[in-house]
Amino acid sequence: MKILSLNAGSSSMKFQLYEMPEEKVLIAGVFERIGLNNSFYSIKYNNNKIKKEIQFKNHEEAVSIFLKELIDLKIIDSLEDIKGIGHRIVHGGDKYCDSVIINEEVIQDVEKFSTLAPLHNPVNLLGINIIKKILPDSKNVAVFDTAFHQTMDKESFIYSVPYEWYKEYGVRRYGFHGTSHKYLSERICEILGRKDLKVITCHLGGGASITAIKDGKCIETSMGFTPLSGITMGTRSGDIDPSIIEYIMQKTGKSIKEVMNDLNKKSGVLGISGISSDDREIEEGIKNNDERCILARKIFVRRIAAFISQYNTFLNGADIIIFSAGIGENSEGVRKEVMNSLSSLGIIIDDEKNKSRGVETVITSSDSKISCYIIPTDEELMIAKETYELIER
Ligand code: AMP
Repeated sequence: MKILSLNAGSSSMKFQLYEMPEEKVLIAGVFERIGLNNSFYSIKYNNNKIKKEIQFKNHEEAVSIFLKELIDLKIIDSLEDIKGIGHRIVHGGDKYCDSVIINEEVIQDVEKFSTLAPLHNPVNLLGINIIKKILPDSKNVAVFDTAFHQTMDKESFIYSVPYEWYKEYGVRRYGFHGTSHKYLSERICEILGRKDLKVITCHLGGGASITAIKDGKCIETSMGFTPLSGITMGTRSGDIDPSIIEYIMQKTGKSIKEVMNDLNKKSGVLGISGISSDDREIEEGIKNNDERCILARKIFVRRIAAFISQYNTFLNGADIIIFSAGIGENSEGVRKEVMNSLSSLGIIIDDEKNKSRGVETVITSSDSKISCYIIPTDEELMIAKETYELIER
């Protein structure tokens, strides 16, 4: 059965078509700079790669071009071959703790939760509407970034603010990257053939979050009401004292919008280093003894280690720590520094294995109290799996 996984962003769209349940990727497409100058798309299939620079005005054009490519490249005979489409939806509020088949009520909810994710939910919804227009008989599934975290207790998700903010306005920790954390949790259970595991998953990419998982259920996560909080990220500040916002507004005359933009786009590793949000450039800077790159790395590592230590306590001793996403899968240096700073937990790194990149590997020695793994994340596959399971049910 052919299942399409779709991730619609504000100026990009990512598609992946699977043969399920074999989990075989038939084709993957990325459309970038939608609605901007120099838009282009790239497609990978059967070891072939195509890149075309062509103007597409909007998301609907991008979808139409991709579907046409599927037929032109003979990946499918007709659009009816696509039996289901899984849509990545950033915010499902506190209503959705699992993926669901999309109906009118789900559409209204995604729209309602746009107030909580104004940059993401509207464009996710646009993706659904375009597919419903082009493929009116298709079955669509919503896979929420927040869903996996809905098992947290109130003591984890309620902030220490007036309780009415939660009751009246939905102010609480929601958590994000849930599809990735869930994938990693399920994958380690498959690898070890066990379900009763206490796992800390570290999704360390441009955005980054850490989750504590017990018996397959999320009990704590570092992102909060929005993806701005938690550990230091590429351009996002992570946790800060909220009083800084008022202070900087007074000192600089910036508006709240400008300061929030600084916290989202000019902070984190980029803000500290003054050079880049990209870990590869930070690594270069460190080699060249750039003080601020060294500091950015130290802060990044310390925040990760702090969350892991805290979650290790909540889990009453973790069995497994997983490193994933762009930095977690590739950066030997970040992993090494994090593991070394956690030696008091009995973590013993295997330096040779830690040189691995982007492949499933244990990176601690056999006498390490907690086993650390690299596991490449696969959110697209997770979306396709959930879509297939719901459609097959
Ligand atoms: P993601 O958001 O998961 O795509 O991760 C993107 C980030 O991963 C980039 O900004 C880089 O900082 C980091 N990254 C990607 N490839 C590498 C690599 N080979 N070595 C170190 N960091 C990497």
